[in-house]
Amino acid sequence: MIVYDLLCENAHRFEGWFASPEAFSHQHEAGQLACPMCGSSSVQKQPSAPYVQTGGGDNGQAVMANPELLESMRRKFVEFVLQSTVDVGPRFADEARAIHYREAPDRAIRGLATAQDTKELQEEGIEVFSLPVPVLPKDKLH
Ligand SMILES: [Zn+2]
Repeated sequence: MIVYDLLCENAHRFEGWFASPEAFSHQHEAGQLACPMCGSSSVQKQPSAPYVQTGGGDNGQAVMANPELLESMRRKFVEFVLQSTVDVGPRFADEARAIHYREAPDRAIRGLATAQDTKELQEEGIEVFSLPVPVLPKDKLH
């Protein structure tokens, strides 16, 4: 997960969360990024360095921030996921595979998965990750 400071043509500053720098480039080039305040898709990345870095493989994550900032990042991340994904519940692993193998429409989903499910999906090259909360509060779901 990576966070960029973004700026639209009307000088609105906002944060964008992306799975990777490539994901940002892809969405940026495809014109899929839009300012949450005015909807402009003319969005530029600010030069500031992203403050969340995720290592590949066994390297795990490295986050440098104080506990208050980490907590606020965690909240924003969960909110972002809730707003930008479709809940498929216990069908998560099946849906993720269907999307990966283009048997289902490409979309962002969330749902329930066991550690085993997650491991198997990752072994198939399907990018999934676990939310940093065990149970999502009901009132946050729509
Ligand atoms: Zn704007």
